[in-house]
Amino acid sequence: MSLALYRKYRPSTFGEVIGQEHVTTPLSNALASGAIHHAYLFSGPRGCGKTSSARIMARSLNCEQGPTPNPCGVCQSCKDLVANGPGSIDVMELDAATHGLVDDARDLRDKAFFAPVQSRYKIYIIDEAHQLGPGAANALLKVVEEPPPHVIFIFATTEPDKLISTIRSRTHHYPFRLVPPGVLGEHLEKICALEGIKVAKGVIPLVVRASGGSVRDALSVLGQLLAGAGADGVTYDIAVQLLGFTDGALLDEAIDALAARDGATMFAAIDSVIESGLDPRRFTQDFLERLRDLIIVGATKDKASQLLRELPEDQLERMATQANIIGAATLIRAADITAEGLTQMRGATAPRLILELICGRILLPAGDDSAVIARIERLERGVNLVAHTPINDLTPSPSVISAPVAAPAAVQAPKAAPKKEEVKTAPVVHVAEPVAAPVAPPAPVAPAVVHNGPVDIAALRRLWPDVIENVKKRRRLTWSLLAASAQVLAVDDKAITIAIVNAGARDSFLRSGSDEILKAAFTDITGLNLKIEVIVDGSINAPTSERTVEEHDDADALSGTALLARELGAQVIREFEQ
Ligand SMILES: [Zn+2]
Repeated sequence: MSLALYRKYRPSTFGEVIGQEHVTTPLSNALASGAIHHAYLFSGPRGCGKTSSARIMARSLNCEQGPTPNPCGVCQSCKDLVANGPGSIDVMELDAATHGLVDDARDLRDKAFFAPVQSRYKIYIIDEAHQLGPGAANALLKVVEEPPPHVIFIFATTEPDKLISTIRSRTHHYPFRLVPPGVLGEHLEKICALEGIKVAKGVIPLVVRASGGSVRDALSVLGQLLAGAGADGVTYDIAVQLLGFTDGALLDEAIDALAARDGATMFAAIDSVIESGLDPRRFTQDFLERLRDLIIVGATKDKASQLLRELPEDQLERMATQANIIGAATLIRAADITAEGLTQMRGATAPRLILELICGRILLPAGDDSAVIARIERLERGVNLVAHTPINDLTPSPSVISAPVAAPAAVQAPKAAPKKEEVKTAPVVHVAEPVAAPVAPPAPVAPAVVHNGPVDIAALRRLWPDVIENVKKRRRLTWSLLAASAQVLAVDDKAITIAIVNAGARDSFLRSGSDEILKAAFTDITGLNLKIEVIVDGSINAPTSERTVEEHDDADALSGTALLARELGAQVIREFEQ
């Protein structure tokens, strides 16, 4: 592989340029219809095809059969201007970054009026055009303002706003973009196949991430990986190490620890990061991106694979379960804390310390606003538990009981909430039966709602993730039987019916007395004190959390807090995508 990949696979026609159809299509149409302008401006991030496209434009304009979007490839001009070809005497490239170009610009101004030597047009490609000094820009302006008919300018720049406006206003502006991951990934796969080198699953997404959407950077990284490939081709381990990314397994470990609020495992993961020589900043960045992905997975459910195309299916499934267990509010809070920590890390002398503090804050069952919102979200879901019965109809019987621990949420409780004394004496309150001492007693959480009407099954399903979370604190065995393979099927005034995916799981569930654990969890979260019944239903899917952005699209449920939480989520996602 003597030639760098990005040179070897440089496009020679607009049809070969990837990911810039919004620019190459109108340019091709203009070439086909003969609508030729005398000055073009190609702007956009580095490495996404501006200069290559400028050369293609020159080739298309000067082809003997042209101007044409499909240069013939056989005429002298086409041969001269093919990618990596010798170049043409009538196509001049000037790089404004190297010097002010004053002399070049004056020279250009003088020579522009002479006809092209052997082609249709004399074409000037001015790279990094925003760096033209005032002297050079003024010299050029003269020609750009009143160009001879045989002269065409193509300005390329990463910063179109810095190009002097008198020139910019005379150009047709075509903004290039970073290449979307899916498109870039396919392109890289194709090149690996052409190079005949095997690349392990998961490597291409890493290269795409490392490139940030720049084709040139992607091919440069890929070239390095291919050059170092052994008999097995490029392995995932080699790619992770060479590119300095965090191993996906380590991220999974950290996220699972967050789900379980397991500090020991979380800090062990940090230790592995440091031990493996990974930069704590890199890990924090990757952790933040994983949190962002989890927020997207949680909010979009089965559509996540379309948005996160670079992630393999098994990874998405694992993340769906994680997002479900952790919950949107907690993910957003964790992402906020991590993003803030990442900012503090810039220039910090002890990034590991900051990373540990980030994890400490994330694990802390915090009393800050997001934690309150998370709790209010739960309360709101609980308030809707009684189907078709306005809260006011329940008065004077208490509709909501705020426990001492839920103090911040109590402020937000419906106005009809009675004083504590009334709660104690109210006759219709369903008092939870004493439950068997749990293996690991959870923090006392008050019932969000005490009901006395028909129960809304949908509301009950919305609370299911919280119930599962509560079960987890009580007994892990019960949690593991339910977390991935059970769903609320029905509820009446005597019992809640749970569907479990297979008979084996149901038997273990009953044998272990897990029904009592689940009953107690339901009482904690919903205030319902109902018997648990279990049936087997192989057709159910793993439970999906309904506490998502979509849920709040239901106009009735769109309270101020829900709006705030939704806006917060959208904002976090927007910030990460920039
Ligand atoms: Zn030609």
